[in-house]
Amino acid sequence: MSGGGAPDAAGSEPESPLAPLSAVIARHGLRPRRALGQHFLLDPGLCGRIARAARPDAASAILEVGPGPGGLTRALLAAGAARIVAVEKDRRCVAALQELAARFPGRLEIVEGDALAFDVASVAPARIGIVANLPYNIGTRLLLRWLDRAERIDSMTLMFQKEVAVRLTATGGRDYGGLSVRAQWLCDCERLFDVSPGSFQPPPAVTSTVVRLVPRAEPLAPAEPDALDDVTRAAFGQRRKMLRSALRRLTRDPHALLEGAGIAPEARAETLSVADFCALARTWAAMRRAEEP
Ligand code: SAM
Repeated sequence: MSGGGAPDAAGSEPESPLAPLSAVIARHGLRPRRALGQHFLLDPGLCGRIARAARPDAASAILEVGPGPGGLTRALLAAGAARIVAVEKDRRCVAALQELAARFPGRLEIVEGDALAFDVASVAPARIGIVANLPYNIGTRLLLRWLDRAERIDSMTLMFQKEVAVRLTATGGRDYGGLSVRAQWLCDCERLFDVSPGSFQPPPAVTSTVVRLVPRAEPLAPAEPDALDDVTRAAFGQRRKMLRSALRRLTRDPHALLEGAGIAPEARAETLSVADFCALARTWAAMRRAEEP
């Protein structure tokens, strides 16, 4: 794949093979920077596996965040992505990526900038796919922003630290928390496969995991987002306590809140389903409104 000469579904194929990624990195002086969370994937087989998991097609555009030297970008193009908008903060990488864009006319647009300030709605009028080997220091923050725009997104195929991936897909127990509830409320979340530190250049300290999140047509159950945040924060803030105690930080009358939601006062946050949290959020929103002057 790093040869880039493989046929692609969208039809525009470079006339000569692309230079190996290692040569691109050397020529552009892309010494990895820790502050930018740079751990590059150079293995074309692995990049191809991630790209195929994203199921790119000719119909929808892809936002790739942090393309770096472009290993995953190449794989996405080879897998048939018709249009990729790639947002990269590191100017050194942007220069290398512009060369790649020139080899795939009309299919790859490079944006130099901060993904945290980038509006997903600017990629295309229709829903988009998001694919990224994320910089770990901002991965969760980016995901929370994208969840706020879930109606604009078809799917997200993202690499996180394994620990974050486990939290995203947990349905109970000690890894289950506000992030799990928020993500599963809005998306079907699936852990696809682990990637060992040795697959990256330089290797990170921890194992990584590719996760696929597909936004639901409707959230799993009705709830106001800020009320859901309130109840998960209070409940998981004291996760070992029974909810009748943990929810005291939210309301003077946790029994009324729990009774309204049909949840036993002795239950603990870790045993509640996402639908239970939505019921709590609805009751909490109604109580809040009733208390308003
Ligand atoms: N996708 C490449 C790969 O798989 O080899 C690089 C992945 S590396 C883990 C993360 C990339 O995100 C780096 O290229 C880094 O420069 C970029 N990055 C870091 N912070 C960013 C930000 N705020 N906005 C856009 N890109 C960022």
